[in-house]
Formats: sequence, structure tokens, C-alpha cells
Amino acid sequence: MYQANPHRYVDMPYNRVGDSGLKLSALGLGLWNNFGSVDDIATQTAIIHQAFDLGITYYDLANNYGPVPGSAEENFGRIMAGDMHPYRDQLVIASKAGYLMWPGPYGDWGSRKSIIASADQSLRRTGLDYFDIFYSHRPDPHTAIEETAGALDQLVRAGKALYVGISNYDGAQTRAITRVFRDLGTPFIIHQPRYNLFNRDVERDLFPVLTAEHKSAVGFSALSQGLLTDKYLHGIPADSRARKATIPFLHPEQVDQTLETVKRLNAVAANRHQSLAQMALAWDLRQPAIASVLIGASRPEQVAANVGALANLTFSTAELREIDRILAD
Ligand code: NDP
Repeated sequence: MYQANPHRYVDMPYNRVGDSGLKLSALGLGLWNNFGSVDDIATQTAIIHQAFDLGITYYDLANNYGPVPGSAEENFGRIMAGDMHPYRDQLVIASKAGYLMWPGPYGDWGSRKSIIASADQSLRRTGLDYFDIFYSHRPDPHTAIEETAGALDQLVRAGKALYVGISNYDGAQTRAITRVFRDLGTPFIIHQPRYNLFNRDVERDLFPVLTAEHKSAVGFSALSQGLLTDKYLHGIPADSRARKATIPFLHPEQVDQTLETVKRLNAVAANRHQSLAQMALAWDLRQPAIASVLIGASRPEQVAANVGALANLTFSTAELREIDRILAD
């Protein structure tokens, strides 16, 4: 029987989310990949145990995570029903609705019909009574923001979510939906954008809005799906995401296209006595708007290595300039 590490809360920072009462671990674990029906449940369990033992309290799901879609929630539910069960109140568990989940006109996007049905399905799959955070996974250009916001508000009032969030909304969309949530009195606290060394648009477009509205961000794909690590420096390993047929989102061409930049960033990381993955995570966390950064992991050792980022979170002006120069070339 798993017993959590009694020292798990000593080293991990917990950052307040906007002006809410909630704090998130500086690193969170994402279950988009590696937690599907195609993946080994023993490895999944070991990854979650490793994350929790190192103080990670934030676990990020969505209706469609797998493959097959829905299976990450089912597997996480199995693990929660097992030896993680005693720790439910020590975890922040999030899910999302908005991407395609079932056929027909109600299986994706942001209508009240889709969001409420999807959240109910996610609760059934995970076996949880409620989600700590429930997100609109993407803005719906054909549904009024009042309807999407109203559906999330209803989830909170029905006791199915404690807080709500949005993901992949741009700055203007975020400002607009924030007003609706404020009028409704919804506990909207967090935005989940892509943020990494290769994707920095949110620095200008989104972060100023979040700061002005007293909200926080949790960044996703901080490692650019593995590109911002040392794993592709000497070729593409057979068991890597860029090679896995079950994960169609990262291609060998992307490895080739980024390799020179990655090598130069890796040298900066080495001078900081960090791995490239650790520097990429620390670089995200330097932003005041960021409360937490999600990591994906295919094995427990990656979680442990990535948590090592917390040992050096500060950057000198010269280091930041050097990174900017490399990214600009
Ligand atoms: P990352 O950018 O963190 O990439 C994770 C991958 O990087 C791992 O699967 C592993 O690849 C590799 N990796 C991780 N640590 C190391 C290490 N120390 N050394 C070498 N390789 C390493 O994340 P994801 O793109 O998976 O996103 C993280 C989470 O963000 C998701 O699980 C999800 O919760 C969320 N997300 C949200 C989205 C949204 O629209 N809201 C969209 C995308 C993600 P390998 O498998 O090759 O070992």
C-alpha cells in the first residue's frame, strides 16, 4: 500500500492563484499523454506517486485525454479509487470541456448543453464528486460568451466544480469573459495558455490582462512536448513522443527544425548548472502571472528531474538577454 512521502510539502512552493484563496504547486502534472488506455497503468500510478511525493498537488485532465478519449480520466479515477484515495483533499484536480468528445452537434465547443453534459461524463469517468477547477478548453466562436460562462457558473452552483478556468482564450476574449464572470459572481480564477521558450505571444497579449484582472495562469507545454529537453540532442529515441504512433502531435521534422536553437539553449542551461528541461520550467516560472507550470511525463524519473528546476529559479539579466538573442536568431 502506497504511503505518501511525509516530507512532500517541505521544498515545493505553493503560489496563490490570482486574488483567490487557492494555492497551486509551482509545478503541476498534466495527463494529456501517457495516461491513456494504450499506456501501462503501473507506470501511470508510479508517475502520480512520484509527483505527489515531491509536493505536486495539481493534476490536469480533460474529457478527451487518452488515447482513447476519456481513458485518462478513467485511469486517473482508478488510481484515485485505489491508494491515492486518502489524499483527495490534498489534491487540486482539474478537467475541461471544449474539444471534440462525442459525435453530433453537442460533443464539443462551448454551449451550455455540451459543457454540462461533458462535465457530468468527466465526473462519472473519474468517479469524483467534484472537480476543483473546471475549464472551458477553448473559446467557441459560435456561442455567446455569456452562455459558456453561464454553464461554468452553473457547474459551481451545482457543486460540481469549486473554481472555473478558461484555456486558449486570447487577451481580448479573456477580458470580455472576465466581465461576465464578475457579473455572475463566478469564482473564475485561472487561465491555461501554452507558454514556453518557443511560444511567447501571451507575454504581450494575455499576461497584462491577467495581471490587471488579478487572475493567474498555469502554463502548458512548457517543454514544447519534449523539444526543450536534452532527449533529442543526439537523435530521436524510439520510445519518444516524436516517434510514438499513438501521439500524433509532435513530428520528427519539428525536432530537426529546432535542433540548433535547442543546442544553444542547452549550453545556457549547462552554465546555470541545470538541464535544459529544468531551465525551460524555471524560465516559465519567472513570470509573475504564472502560478503553476504543467509538466507531462512518460516515466517517474522525468518528474523527479523536472522538480529539480526549483533549485534555481532566478535568472540574471545577462542570461535572459542571451536566451532572447538565441530565440531571435
Ligand atoms: P511538456 O511540454 O511538459 O512535454 C512532456 C513530454 O516531454 C513528456 O511526455 C516527455 O516526452 C518529455 N519530457 C518531460 N520531462 C522530460 C525530461 N526531464 N527529460 C526528457 N524528456 C522529458 O508537456 P505536454 O505538451 O504534455 O503538456 C503538459 C500538460 O499541459 C498536458 O498533459 C495537459 O495537461 C496540458 N495541456 C493543455 C492543453 C490545453 O489546450 N489546455 C494543450 C496541451 C497540454 P516523452 O514522452 O518523449 O518521454
